[in-house]
Amino acid sequence: MPVTVYPWFQQPWQEVLERKSTLPHALLFRGKEGIGKLDFVRKLAQSLACESPAADGAACGACQSCRWFAASSHPDYRELQPEALRPAESQSGELDSAESGQPSAGKRKPSKEIRVEEVRDLQDFINLTAYRRGGKTIVFYPAETLNPNAANALLKNLEEPPPSTRFMLVSHRPSYLPATIISRCQQIALPTPQAATAEQWLREQGIANPALSLAQTGNAPLAALALDDGEFWTQRKTLLGSLAAPKFDALALAEQVREFPVGRLLGWLQRWTYDLLSAKSVGRVRYNPDFETALSGIAGRLRAADIARYHRQLVRQQRIVNHPLNARLFVEQLLLWYAALLRGEFVAGVDAG
Ligand SMILES: [Zn+2]
Repeated sequence: MPVTVYPWFQQPWQEVLERKSTLPHALLFRGKEGIGKLDFVRKLAQSLACESPAADGAACGACQSCRWFAASSHPDYRELQPEALRPAESQSGELDSAESGQPSAGKRKPSKEIRVEEVRDLQDFINLTAYRRGGKTIVFYPAETLNPNAANALLKNLEEPPPSTRFMLVSHRPSYLPATIISRCQQIALPTPQAATAEQWLREQGIANPALSLAQTGNAPLAALALDDGEFWTQRKTLLGSLAAPKFDALALAEQVREFPVGRLLGWLQRWTYDLLSAKSVGRVRYNPDFETALSGIAGRLRAADIARYHRQLVRQQRIVNHPLNARLFVEQLLLWYAALLRGEFVAGVDAG
């Protein structure tokens, strides 16, 4: 069976297949995080390498090349991702600790960037002749995680394209990429699905309340699906339930949420506050429909200007959320500010860190 892409990508998929034979050596796929861009790009690379593609150009799913793709072992295909985003079993840090028998606590944190050594390590692959006739493809995901030196090393390859090598950059935030790189890529925009399409797809995946899941992720279906893994929903209920409670105790809540990821907490607070503003100004909420009554009640007691000021403060905290000096104090401060907001006493403070 030929490969297929997510239903919301049908149009760009047909368009790109139509010009398979004339695609440039550098492509930049951009679109919202969590909509399935990497899957699209993998299937495109597979279709370019396929030995007997379908009539529309999609990979057959059965030839030797396609079987290699299915096993993630195609000799002409490489993917570069920051170590922190790779599946756990391929992270070298994990292997090291397992082999040495050391506890994992002291190990190096996996990098959140694509590092220059990793781009340089590609050079041998780039210089090799393609193993099969489809040419070689290298994918950078997400491309904005290329650190400045890595981006420079890539730029050299984009400026003097090596033979039969294709570079596919995938980005959630193309504005973070150097203009020198963007200008050498042809851009392909991948769309966020319509709500109905995304809901239908999530329902088929067995998600009980697709609308609520999609509201958490701005209609990004794969991100919405991923929420069902792990602690997302129970943690969200703990936090939002306390924010909604008639008596709010900032320090008790800070203690309760001590183990929650700080970035996730800040995101929930931002969306909660956005909903307060929205309830206040247009009488409806966007992200937390399951807490609409509580949000409306709280918004009714607050001044719009105060909510807006607290929201701006939360947005400012975004800058340091990945590296607060003290995560516990950082979260405490966010919640103490919220308590002050409820008392009508919030004044913008210095950044918590
Ligand atoms: Zn094939």
